[in-house]
Amino acid sequence: MGRIVMKFGGTSVADLARIRHAAAFARREADAGNSVAVVVSAMAGETNRLVDLAASAGPPDAALDVRNVEADAVVATGEQVTSAMLALTLQNLGYRARSWQGWQVGLKTDAAHGRARIAGIDGDALGEAVDNGEIAIVAGFQGVSDAGRVTTLGRGGSDTTAVALAAALKAERCDIYTDVDGVYTTDPRITKQARRNDRLSYEEMLEMASLGAKVLQTRSVELAMAHRVNLRVLSSFVAPDADNPGTVICDEEETMEQRIVSAITVSRDEARISLLAVPDEPGRAARIFTILSDHDVNVDMIIQSPARTAGANISFTLPESDLDRAEAAIAAAKGDIGYDRVEPDRDVVKVSVIGVGMRSHTGVASTMFRTLADRQINIHNISTSEIKISVLIDAEYAELAVRALHQAYGLDKAAADAASETGARP
Ligand code: ADP
Ligand code: ASP
Ligand code: MG
Repeated sequence: MGRIVMKFGGTSVADLARIRHAAAFARREADAGNSVAVVVSAMAGETNRLVDLAASAGPPDAALDVRNVEADAVVATGEQVTSAMLALTLQNLGYRARSWQGWQVGLKTDAAHGRARIAGIDGDALGEAVDNGEIAIVAGFQGVSDAGRVTTLGRGGSDTTAVALAAALKAERCDIYTDVDGVYTTDPRITKQARRNDRLSYEEMLEMASLGAKVLQTRSVELAMAHRVNLRVLSSFVAPDADNPGTVICDEEETMEQRIVSAITVSRDEARISLLAVPDEPGRAARIFTILSDHDVNVDMIIQSPARTAGANISFTLPESDLDRAEAAIAAAKGDIGYDRVEPDRDVVKVSVIGVGMRSHTGVASTMFRTLADRQINIHNISTSEIKISVLIDAEYAELAVRALHQAYGLDKAAADAASETGARP
């Protein structure tokens, strides 16, 4: 029997009844003779409450997203509570269990508070404890910096704790228990037609996570891919002995999927800035994007087109949370850049179609553009990679676009039936 990492998200430990249910899953793995480490999130809603609480103490920049050291110390307590609560629950059931905080498992991070990256884990003590039959309950989402301060890993970061632990422990599998029974063809909250994928490649899951499917934190998928962690997403809302295959995230060769497109995502944390009538001469774009990168603004889709009067219009997308910062930086550099006007737009979303089958098939883009055109949905910006196409559209059309595309690619049907209907050709 091997080492297993299990992770329970916020809704899966939302109250004592759910914590007891999570305990039943952990007991099952321990009873089967496995060495078990369990990673927990804070109770559902608790991290939001703690972020607001920290912010209310001021100074006004104490919120999680501006990387404040003491805010992290507040926000990390949510996971401290659930880890000890689950340990107590298991002890009361007669199991040997203990809670571990990030610093106690040796989860070292950089000092980027509120969005820290894991630098390494010294998993020896934890490995020894679980191999001796103790169930380890690890507080997700938190670590410790070189300066000895508590850090947090960014929203959804418990997924990353789980995958990093699985890699450090060389675990046989890393099971992410959540409130859906796997990774769907699109967010099941948008359409009932969404279907569970049996398998997805690391690359597809990575695109999905970074393009808006919040079911796994992007960084957790990167780590799983780098360390070839055997990752699975499955439901904690069924009986522990129920059939619960979930979605396996694995190498592309192991997916054996017929689908050309495997998922549609929507990212709502998007905004667009258009700079009108920028002088059309070498070096202007370099100036704009240097200023943005100096202000830590993450730019995505970029379009340059001739302006109606003179010069060029340059438009780009960025996370909505960066918009104010970017606008201020651009306004401060108006003389240097030399634009006429700035137009910010918050009411946009990015809709993406994703699938490894795009590598070997044509027609995916034309199906996407035709489907949106048929619904009178205007496309502002487009970006592509080998396995995805993203478009920026007005926010009011987000759900209509997702549903229409989901149907256009036959994702509401079994994989084998779908391929013939998408218009895509090998
Ligand atoms: P947890 O608290 O367990 O970490 P999250 O809320 O972070 O859970 O992630 C699970 C949620 O992700 C689901 O409830 C679902 O609404 C959402 N989600 C978005 N896209 C997808 C998708 N393609 N497949 C499954 N769930 C998705
Ligand atoms: N509790 C943290 C959050 O809400 C981390 C997590 O749930 O993964 O973002
Ligand atoms: Mg999550």
